[in-house]
Amino acid sequence: MIRTMRAAILAIGSELLGTDRLDTNSLALTESLERHGVELVAKQVVGDSVSRIATTLRNLIADVDLLLVTGGLGPTSDDVTREAVAQATGRGLGEDPTIVENIRRKFASFGREMPEVNRRQAMVIDGAEVIENPRGTAPGLVLSLAEATVFLFPGVPRELARMIEHRLESWLTENADGAPQSRLTLRVACLPESEVEELLAPVYAEFGEVGLLASPGDIRIRLRSADPEELARAARAVESCLGDSVYGRGDETLEEVVGRQLRERGLTLATAESCTGGWIAQRLTAVPGSSDYFLGAIVAYDDRVKIEQLGVPPETLASHGAVSRQVVEAMAEGAAERLQADWAVAVSGVAGPGGGSDEKPVGTVDVALARGDEGTDYRRLQLPGDRRTIRWLTTQWALDLIRRRLAEGAD
Ligand code: AMP
Ligand code: MG
Repeated sequence: MIRTMRAAILAIGSELLGTDRLDTNSLALTESLERHGVELVAKQVVGDSVSRIATTLRNLIADVDLLLVTGGLGPTSDDVTREAVAQATGRGLGEDPTIVENIRRKFASFGREMPEVNRRQAMVIDGAEVIENPRGTAPGLVLSLAEATVFLFPGVPRELARMIEHRLESWLTENADGAPQSRLTLRVACLPESEVEELLAPVYAEFGEVGLLASPGDIRIRLRSADPEELARAARAVESCLGDSVYGRGDETLEEVVGRQLRERGLTLATAESCTGGWIAQRLTAVPGSSDYFLGAIVAYDDRVKIEQLGVPPETLASHGAVSRQVVEAMAEGAAERLQADWAVAVSGVAGPGGGSDEKPVGTVDVALARGDEGTDYRRLQLPGDRRTIRWLTTQWALDLIRRRLAEGAD
């Protein structure tokens, strides 16, 4: 049996060891490896130190067939990847006059002279193949060693992306022999992770590669398989366990799904927002083309605005309070009427940290959806978390309510 190719990723850069920069390059590289069925066995981050990089490199090269390195190819003296790789592999390093000329030309095209430091980026390890970098000055390098093939890529993500597409992909097509893995992601809103886990028990039993990625109010169910038909079967199994709680696939967001449904049904929508301050409208309008179905929002934070702009009766506010079924329904109906929308959603709640009471603790949120002749829906939510989480979850619940109602009408 042929052994599956094994790979490792090494991200270089002292900034990646701090608190404000995360290694995301490895994710782009991993995607490419998965497409070609290469097994990723290790991922490491090291700072810009020649000796540390060299030690890590030697260890990884002994362990894998393919090593993908990013970062440390910049022009400044702290970028030392080239030197470290030369040292670790016992090879020489020499300036390539063609690359110097290329870099010089790039600077000239911006009307600038090449700074002397950029010469460092023309240093090539003996025997390495050069990968062009049309998006920057540092070329990449490929080194074929007896133990492993080593790719050196620049750290700038968009320069790396171009090199993955133009060099790594074709190398993998030629050299990797594993079964390509396909991925499919299904998305669920407003269900707790534990409940999703429980509902998915039959899927876990039948399919191996099922992973949950949970963030507040939104869970991604990630399926992976080398067999596209098995992947489709697993997706159907998830959908039959979770029913209409699955709102979408892949990267499609909840607001995109709602937008698509509104467009399909030829309906317009407006929002009346108190505790979310316009966040639902912001999410809806982040989708290109949303003017086809989204009309506008009234941010009614203060009671006076609820009365004057949405026509909420002052006595209703006085007797039931701003967070109440009566008020939120009046807000939704008022927004639909004043903005002449087919449907309108309204939210009013206690986002905290202050303002809670025994009857309405922090996290109490009322949502109403006015649907013209079809009536008005109402939900009371008890949401967990801090102010930001409660506000976010409110947008998520409101959009999911709209989605579910739109889906019913489409049947
Ligand atoms: P370098 O090639 O080391 O000069 O990297 C250039 C820039 O790319 C750095 O300043 C970072 O902003 C970014 N960068 C480097 N490595 C990574 C990485 N692993 N993930 C995301 N960004 C990176
Ligand atoms: Mg760097």
